[in-house]
Amino acid sequence: MAMEHVTTLECTLCGAEYDPGQIIYTCDNHEGTRGVLEVKYDYEVVHENFDADLDGTIPSQWKYEAFLPVDDEADPVTLNEGGSDLFEAPTLSEELGVETLVKDDGRNPTGCFKDRASSVAVTKARHAGRDIITCASTGNAAASLCGYAARGGLDCRIFVPGSAPEGKLAQPLVYGADVLAVEGTYDEAYDLSVEVTEQYGWYNRNAAINPFQVEGKRTAGLELAEQSLVRGDIPDWVVFSMGDGCTIAGAWKGLREFHELGFVDEAPRMLGVQAEGATAIHDTFHGSDDVSDVAETMADSIAVGVPRNVVKACRALEESGGTSVLVSDEDIMAAEVLLGSTEGIYAEPAAAAPVAGVQEARDRGIIDSGDTVVVASTGFGLKDTEGAKQATGGVERIDPDIAEVERLYGTAERAAADD
Ligand SMILES: *Cc1c(COP(=O)(O)O)cnc(C)c1O
Ligand SMILES: [Zn+2]
Repeated sequence: MAMEHVTTLECTLCGAEYDPGQIIYTCDNHEGTRGVLEVKYDYEVVHENFDADLDGTIPSQWKYEAFLPVDDEADPVTLNEGGSDLFEAPTLSEELGVETLVKDDGRNPTGCFKDRASSVAVTKARHAGRDIITCASTGNAAASLCGYAARGGLDCRIFVPGSAPEGKLAQPLVYGADVLAVEGTYDEAYDLSVEVTEQYGWYNRNAAINPFQVEGKRTAGLELAEQSLVRGDIPDWVVFSMGDGCTIAGAWKGLREFHELGFVDEAPRMLGVQAEGATAIHDTFHGSDDVSDVAETMADSIAVGVPRNVVKACRALEESGGTSVLVSDEDIMAAEVLLGSTEGIYAEPAAAAPVAGVQEARDRGIIDSGDTVVVASTGFGLKDTEGAKQATGGVERIDPDIAEVERLYGTAERAAADD
C-alpha cells in the first residue's frame, strides 16, 4: 500500500476509527466538527523508512518524509519549509534569567510556522486530484496555504476576518488567491468555510478538521529533537503560543515520537501561552467551569475564541508534564521589542508571546533558573507592523536639517569632545 505507515484516523473524543485513504474531516458521532481525528502510524514502518543521518543538517522538513502522511508516489509541493535555526540567545537569556534558545520559524517561505502544514496539505490535495482548496484563518494559515497552492498549481479561496492586518490580507492576493474578507470574527469565518466545504466540496485544510494538515507541524518537534541531540542538551521546556492549539499539539507529537523511537533520551515539557483576552485552552486545561469564548487580543494569530484543537492541545500539555500561562497584550508587545532588540529576531505579536510566557512562568516559579528553554517564534514581524509601531512608540519625525540631529544628539563637536 502506498501509505502503509498510516494505520488509521482515530477520533479524539470517542476513539472511532476511519480509513485514512478516504477524504473525511471529522467523526460522525458528534455534533458539528467537534470530533477531531488524529492520524495514527505504524512506527515500525516509519522507523524502517527513516534512514536520514541525525547530524543537524536539515535542508527542509522533507528530511522527515517517512513521518509524513503522504503517499509514496506523491510529489511534494515544497518551498523548502522547515529546517529553521535553533539560535542560542545569550542576551535574551540574561534578561529572562534562564538559558533560552529561539527556534525561528518566522523565516519560513511565507513567513510563518504554518508552511510546514501547508506543504503537506497541498501535496495531498494535488495528489488526490483536487483543484480547489480552501481554509479559514486568522491570517497566516491562509497566506501560507495560498503560497503553496500557487506553487502546486491549485486554486485557493480563503476566508479571513476583515480585521486581519494589512500584510496578511495583501500576501495571499499576490499568490493569486481569492481573499474573502468576512465582516465578522475568525470564528464566524471558520463556520462559513465549513459550510462552503459541505456545499461546494472544495478541499478544506482547516487545521482542526483536516486530520492530515496538522501532521506537517510535527516536523518542528522532530527537528528540535534532532537539533537538541546535536547540541547534547534536551531542553527542559519548549514554549509555544496557542490559538486553535494545533501548533503546540503538532510540535509535541513530533518531540514525543523521536523520544519513543529512542532517537533521544528525553522529551521536554510543553508550556502553552495564551493572551489574557483569549483564554479558552488555558481555561479548559486548568479545569475552569467557565471557559471563555472571547477573543480580544492584538496578537491576531492567537485571537481565537473557540479553539478547534483543544483536546489535542490539552493532551500535549498533560502528556509532556507541562502547563499553560496567560500574558497581557502589554507584555506581548514588550516581549516583541525585547526579542528584537536583544537578538535581532523580529517576531509578530503571537510569535513573541512565548517570550512573555517565559517571563510569567519564571515569576510564578514554573520555570526554574537552572532550566533550558526553547521559545518558538512562529511568525515574522513584518506581517503586522501596526503592532510594532504601538510597541515601540514609532519613529522620530524630523526636518531634513542637521539642526534636528543636533537637537537629539548634541553638536558633532560636542559628541567628539565627550568621546
Ligand atoms: C497560527 C499561529 C499560532 C497559533 O497556532 P494554533 O495552531 O492556532 O494554536 C501562533 N503563532 C502564529 C504566528 C500563528 O500564525
Ligand atoms: Zn468520535
